[in-house]
Amino acid sequence: MTNATTPRGVTILGATGSIGTAALRVMARHRDLFRVSGLTAHSNAALLGEQVAEWRPDFTGLVNGGQGMPAGWASGEEVLVQAASLPSADIVLNAVVGSTGLEATLAALQAGKRVALANKESLVMGGELVMAAARRNHGELVPVDSEHSAILQCLAGRQPSDVRRLIITASGGPFRTWPTQRIAEATLADALNHPTWSMGRKITVDSASLVNKALEVIEAHFLFGVPYDRIEVVVHPQSIVHSMVEFIDGSVVAQLGVPSMELPILYALSYPERLEDDGVARFDPVAAASLTFEAVRTDAFPSFKMGLEAGRAGGVAPAVFNAANEAAVQRFLDGSLTFGGIPRAIDAALSALGDRKLDGIASLRDADRAARSLVQELV
Ligand code: NAD
Ligand code: MG
Repeated sequence: MTNATTPRGVTILGATGSIGTAALRVMARHRDLFRVSGLTAHSNAALLGEQVAEWRPDFTGLVNGGQGMPAGWASGEEVLVQAASLPSADIVLNAVVGSTGLEATLAALQAGKRVALANKESLVMGGELVMAAARRNHGELVPVDSEHSAILQCLAGRQPSDVRRLIITASGGPFRTWPTQRIAEATLADALNHPTWSMGRKITVDSASLVNKALEVIEAHFLFGVPYDRIEVVVHPQSIVHSMVEFIDGSVVAQLGVPSMELPILYALSYPERLEDDGVARFDPVAAASLTFEAVRTDAFPSFKMGLEAGRAGGVAPAVFNAANEAAVQRFLDGSLTFGGIPRAIDAALSALGDRKLDGIASLRDADRAARSLVQELV
């Protein structure tokens, strides 16, 4: 840390979620280094109230607020951008779920802040705009996603020209060993039964369909500027090796650790430095015993394949892929679509909308809306 006497201000968008609450656990161990500038949540006023009482932020926003809300809180969709632009915030942890986080990511970068990015959907939707905003305003984008945190640590300042391949690991999710036919009929309980990570419901379903891994390939492409034909995915069921980088001399560097999001959250806050921290169980190689790797069963996970194709196609296709998936997952969670309906919805949206022209953020929002309403009408 550059100045140990002044704690850095951190704003957390999505403070009540899985990542948001993990971040506050991490920050509670480093109160001398970090303070909370802003907190936002969607509707959990009770938990947000507890967090406000403990951390006394400068700004509190509840999207779904309004009457009965404590005095001094802001409400409405705008709270994300307001919280992301707070003068007292040095770091904005974007931990909301879904492409709704895009404008806040852009606003924080435009204000020259560090964005600790958990909200991968905003980068998938607006990758080119987000990276351009970061460059233009000297904002900084530091990944929270464990695979991308691993890659950042493996790269350790090397130039893109030193890199031959990124190798992103995937747990394989709960259907890794299921027969292909059975996966389409999986129930919500099956999909929410993740083998190694405990996360919010949307990303847990994305991990079961491997959409999460396609989103992560697109995320890596934008974050690290590596072309798609040099990003590979390998299944690693133990989730200990968080990802690897192969360099041009053939040497491969991997980053390992127990599967806890507190480690990449801490690194995104302290980067490029490291902080002493004993909050997470230590890695024990003898206890881990065996680390295994296998190829992705691409044919069993059609959404994964379509996501990679959308990434390669570029333009609005990644935004359409992401929005169709968000809408389909919402319907799967509501019980109005089967698990097999998710790839059908993505396919329909990409066929109808995937080759629209990308022309600024308005064209992305249009494509996002069109994909959602198309999926809404699907039977
Ligand atoms: P979650 O569902 O547990 O929490 C989401 C948070 O966002 C909540 O605080 C909620 O109030 C807020 N939110 C939801 N919808 C909103 C909206 N429309 N407007 C404003 N706020 C809204 O989700 P999570 O698992 O913490 O995931 C958050 C993000 O982090 C996602 O993009 C996910 O892909 C990413 N991520 C999560 C994990 C993990 O381990 N949970 C790992 C890597 C990346
Ligand atoms: Mg991840």
